[in-house]
Amino acid sequence: MDSSLNNAIKIDDIQSYVDENLDLFSKVLNSLESVSGEAKSYLVKKTSKDGRIDNALLEKHQYEGHGFAWFETYRISLRETLNWYKSLKDLNKSSKLESGILIFAFSEYLTQMRNGIMMSQTEVVRPSILGISQESFSFYESPDVANLIKIGSSDSVKDEIVSSLENGIFPNLGLNDETLEMIQDQFKKFTDEEIIPEANEWHLKDDLIPDEILKKMSELGVFSIAIPENYGGLGMGKVAMCVVTEELSRGFLAAGSLGTRAEIAGELIRLGGTEEQKNKYLPEIATGNILTTAVFTEPNTGSDLGSLSTRAQVDGDDYVINGNKTWITHGARSDLMTVLARTDSNQKGYKGLSMFLVEKPRGNCKNPFPMDGMS
Ligand SMILES: Cc1cc2nc3c(=O)[nH]c(=O)nc-3n(C[C@H](O)[C@H](O)[C@H](O)COP(=O)(O)OP(=O)(O)OC[C@H]3O[C@@H](n4cnc5c(N)ncnc54)[C@H](O)[C@@H]3O)c2cc1C
Repeated sequence: MDSSLNNAIKIDDIQSYVDENLDLFSKVLNSLESVSGEAKSYLVKKTSKDGRIDNALLEKHQYEGHGFAWFETYRISLRETLNWYKSLKDLNKSSKLESGILIFAFSEYLTQMRNGIMMSQTEVVRPSILGISQESFSFYESPDVANLIKIGSSDSVKDEIVSSLENGIFPNLGLNDETLEMIQDQFKKFTDEEIIPEANEWHLKDDLIPDEILKKMSELGVFSIAIPENYGGLGMGKVAMCVVTEELSRGFLAAGSLGTRAEIAGELIRLGGTEEQKNKYLPEIATGNILTTAVFTEPNTGSDLGSLSTRAQVDGDDYVINGNKTWITHGARSDLMTVLARTDSNQKGYKGLSMFLVEKPRGNCKNPFPMDGMS
């Protein structure tokens, strides 16, 4: 690519370019939709038996299946990025930052879809693996699309995005909801004032987030956002949860993940718990008095939880749980665990699993698990 040409593109021109070419973005999406249809038919043919998706065939072609999931994720992400930009533009809220993000996303993701999506360091999904012919991507070579890609990957676009972020200017999320915008402002302020100045120190010292910060987070409603109102929460739902998590994580990932623990446990108890469990735990989770942790992953089981091996066996009136868990966020400093374990060893996969609510004493850095039988 000719970088001198790239550098010559001015960001103000790019916003006008984007606004004048929104139809071209839509045309690209239409082309991608037909490419996606081609890949889907190919995959269905490879993995079907007697007119239905066959598990054994899907397992055999899991690389293609996984790759198609990535391809579709990219396609839908581009579609929603364009919708996001268009709605901002309609409200006169789009700026050069948002237009830069839109064109950069199209340029980068489209190029990856055309040439190979990197699922991991060693797994690249190329179109041919998904049965996509070269001709299907011929739209990528057309002069107007090639120009869009060139502009989107230009240094001017990247510089604009990076310097905005460095100056604390973040893209408008397009929430279009006064309450959500208020929550975002509130948590932005909290993160700037209370989290960012300390986060690096906590990280370097491997410290827990101090209790007084936790208290302030509770007061701001971090733990109660997703808990229903009739159980003492704010009942604000997933989007509010995402807004809060994103703002806190901007300052420190561990701060963002604290609130999501309450959301995971709250959801499990709300959907699967007894009325007694809901009354006992949900209000305490909402106030932050009970900190929760999600205990699912094992050393040999990550995404495929159906194959986990931790066992829970009946012992008198109790269950005794034996097994190894790993990657458990806020595992030590928590009072209640949602533990996934196998209760029926005759059943394979998800069918033999149960979710347990297990209370535990809260630990700290010096003594993470002050409980017999747990280390
Ligand atoms: C920061 C962090 C916090 C975490 N916190 C928690 C927590 O609080 N509680 C908890 O229980 N767990 C937690 N986890 C664990 C997390 O849920 C697992 O890492 C996740 O489920 C993925 O499992 P894995 O790492 O074993 O990877 P694997 O599932 O083994 O995946 C490895 C690779 O295989 C690919 N792959 C997976 N499935 C398929 C498939 N079907 N077909 C093709 N390819 C596939 C993946 O894309 C990946 O590239 C945390 C992880 C991280 C990184």
